[in-house]
Amino acid sequence: MLLKDFRDPWLAKRIVEKIHEISPKKDVVKICHVCGTHEWTISHYGIRSLLPSNVDVIAGPGCPVCIVPASEVDEAIELALKGATLICFGDAARVPGSQLSLIEAKAKGADIQIVYSVMDAVKVAEKEPNREFVFFAIGFETTAPLTAYEVLKKPPRNLSFLISHRLIPPAMELMLGIGDLQIDAFIAPGHVSTIIGLEPYEVFPKVYRMPTIVAGFEPIDVLLAIYMALKQIKNRIAILENEYKRAVKWDGNVKAKELIKKAFKVVSGNWRGLGRIPDSTLALREEYLEYDAHEKHGVRIERGMDIPPGCQCHLVIIGKIKPIECPLFMKACTPQKPVGSCMVGIEGTCRIWASARQELKPKFI
Ligand code: SF4
Repeated sequence: MLLKDFRDPWLAKRIVEKIHEISPKKDVVKICHVCGTHEWTISHYGIRSLLPSNVDVIAGPGCPVCIVPASEVDEAIELALKGATLICFGDAARVPGSQLSLIEAKAKGADIQIVYSVMDAVKVAEKEPNREFVFFAIGFETTAPLTAYEVLKKPPRNLSFLISHRLIPPAMELMLGIGDLQIDAFIAPGHVSTIIGLEPYEVFPKVYRMPTIVAGFEPIDVLLAIYMALKQIKNRIAILENEYKRAVKWDGNVKAKELIKKAFKVVSGNWRGLGRIPDSTLALREEYLEYDAHEKHGVRIERGMDIPPGCQCHLVIIGKIKPIECPLFMKACTPQKPVGSCMVGIEGTCRIWASARQELKPKFI
């Protein structure tokens, strides 16, 4: 199939008809995805409005910027105020810390530089060997291999890393323990799955009897994944299926996984809105501690204020409410002036809903 076929209105219509045929007539069915790009497709193509009224697609913790705890932003600010130049991605600079975001700290004298990749951070540090730089490494399994690659290459000594990489499957597992969510199926993220493959999701059907579909990002991908999930629910089976076969292999990206394994160990870590999740965070291995900003600069902040007063990000991040249910949505909290982390990153659910507000209706079929 060509890319345009994955946006084909005729095909979409056929799948929507099948979804209506197959979906249970009474009970509410809750399908949870954990990917900002899935949310973008669902919101911008008006997919929710095409579904039966009892099929609810909820957005889980799929935005890497949204779930960074305030304490790590506070650490980044402290490092920058202590004299290091803090290098980060544009979205990361706007994430709220306990009091300030990095961009607000810049106005108070903190030295912040925005880059597009970790490779850029290395180049910046190489150019000025007498200055200290810290790269704020945020992201899921998709960006962790790039950080690992640079660490393993032994970058210049004047660069260290504030590692904030997190792993998706442990967060999915945590979601299943939130009793009143009652998820009926998972749509697993495509980008992350290209790296980790299918195997880490086996636990969901095997242990939790949870239908799990790895899906791509085009509207046809998402509609197919919803159909596949509903079919499993109807047939009372729970298996792991791969809708995104054109990009995701069973083993994922073996080289990328090796890089992650060589540079990092898996530890427990805090997620904004979710609390502490066992085995969900990456930390540099002992042999690379010279590049660990915590070790090198002696900065460690255990707690911060993750959720500002009035913000409902802790509920949006787990899909318990939709952004429009937050009283601050598009009033006190806008993409231009975000209050909570979900309004900051391009993968944040509130930010996506803000940008898709005029488009939450079927526009392609
Ligand atoms: Fe938080 Fe703003 Fe979203 Fe409300 S609209 S949940 S304040 S990010």
